[in-house]
Amino acid sequence: MLPSGYTEAQLIKDYTHCVQLSGGESLVFNLITGLGWRGPARQRVVAERLVAGSNADRPAAEVLDELEGEFEKGRRPMSFQLIPTYGCNFKCAYCYEGSLTSEQYQWSDADIEEVVSACTRLAEDSGKTLGECKFTVLGGEVIRESTFGAVESLVAGLKRGGGRTFEAVTNGYELASHAPRMKELGIGNVQITVDGPKEVHDKRKPFTDSLLLRAA
Ligand code: SF4
Repeated sequence: MLPSGYTEAQLIKDYTHCVQLSGGESLVFNLITGLGWRGPARQRVVAERLVAGSNADRPAAEVLDELEGEFEKGRRPMSFQLIPTYGCNFKCAYCYEGSLTSEQYQWSDADIEEVVSACTRLAEDSGKTLGECKFTVLGGEVIRESTFGAVESLVAGLKRGGGRTFEAVTNGYELASHAPRMKELGIGNVQITVDGPKEVHDKRKPFTDSLLLRAA
């Protein structure tokens, strides 16, 4: 499928083809001479003569490869996985974060500002706006009262820069109480980890407070 703003190659004359590009550009190539040209659409007629008469200076393959690279880049979604804290209220034996989940450090306002700038820079370097990117917040556990403020500041900062697609990964423990605020923020998708039937799930995902109670 062609990206929006692009048309399929049209046969202009004999072996000369043209593709209309977005931004007022055209791409012209000739299958006999093997030459290509890309430039302002208003110069297209001159370009047709150049590629047909062996006077263009770029191989058609190079011009078409360049275009294909842009198609690919435009198709590839850019996704950020953001971890405002590794701290968690669960202590799963298999946790990939290991002992980090007992550290409750979370991003400060200055950290969040830096992260928003980094995301903006990375997106721009890839020719994208924040509105074309997806942001997933995860931890640790971020959907809980002690960490939700950082999530709100982060999402607000990204939204100010144009971000609009937000997701969260959560163990679900405080999901119900945060759902209205998540909806308000625009966190449209939520991934919840369920380890099996209740007895299996509760065994594999023990809540830290219950561990403390047991220890006491
Ligand atoms: S809920 Fe997730 S982050 Fe928390 S301890 Fe379990 S696996 Fe780790």
